[in-house]
Amino acid sequence: MSNTAISVSDLSKKYGGRMAVSHATFEVPLGTICGFVGPNGSGKTTTMRMLLGLITPTGGTGEILGESIKHPEKYLPRVGAMIEGPAFYPALSGSENLKYLANLGGFSTDRVQYLLDQVGLGDRAKSKYKTYSLGMKQRLGIAAALLPNPKLLMLDEPTNGLDPEGIQEVRSLLRALADEGTSVFVSSHLLSELELISDYLVMLRKGEVVFTGKMSDLMLDQQPVIIAKGAHESDLGALLAIAQRAGHRAVIRDGAVHVEGPAEWALEFNRAAFDAGITLSQLTPQLPNLEETFFEMTGEK
Ligand code: ATP
Repeated sequence: MSNTAISVSDLSKKYGGRMAVSHATFEVPLGTICGFVGPNGSGKTTTMRMLLGLITPTGGTGEILGESIKHPEKYLPRVGAMIEGPAFYPALSGSENLKYLANLGGFSTDRVQYLLDQVGLGDRAKSKYKTYSLGMKQRLGIAAALLPNPKLLMLDEPTNGLDPEGIQEVRSLLRALADEGTSVFVSSHLLSELELISDYLVMLRKGEVVFTGKMSDLMLDQQPVIIAKGAHESDLGALLAIAQRAGHRAVIRDGAVHVEGPAEWALEFNRAAFDAGITLSQLTPQLPNLEETFFEMTGEK
């Protein structure tokens, strides 16, 4: 039996003359939470739709739970998905909505209350859907995706539009599901929403995979940075030039110069700035957070 939940090779989708997904290759091991991160329009939804057999790839291959994506009927009974927001009847309760979907999909309705409890909606099961908060609606969507008792759960932006509390609720739920053995493939345009819970990561930029691997490997790849500001805004250009002349990669971001380099270089940087007549108002060596790395990789900001 395959030990990968998802495996894609050279997977592409072209719309007109544009590659929405271009030669994507990655693997997601079973039993992990894999974050699927990329800016809006980078191809996350298109990839998920190909993996679920909703659209046909232009090229490449893919396997879900060991079965080719050419034959979705072989794996879809073991996959739960929530793509582009759940659709429910506003006037029905959470419980009624789930029972309706269970009947529609040919799943047992016996698990409905259990699933509502699992996503933390047990005590609101009888309230109408339209009275739910956005976070509750998303959690009901996840409960619906869990109806087939899936081995793999695929969620497209389940934290989109949620407040920090709602994001935390979804995170805890996904962690609990993964701990019980469900593989989770979850997308977001914000790495910060997934970095705490993801074991694995696939990063997309403009349809191309820019990183795939263990979250811990991404951390290891990180260069330390030194963030510096002069007393005057006009000092930034000179500070940037000093860092670049010394052979460091540097950019101006959020009103400060960000220099790739070890903390020890800060002392030399300070001295060189002083020699150039610049008094520093900030000089902070730090490890970059992943969001910064992400923007570095995606060329945003
Ligand atoms: P978002 O989070 O904004 O949905 P995404 O990463 O999921 O972004 P996709 O929705 O997969 O990105 O879109 C990738 C690219 O493909 C975009 O440029 C989009 O405009 C284009 N695209 C997606 N679906 C179609 C379609 N049916 N026809 C033409 N172009 C499409």
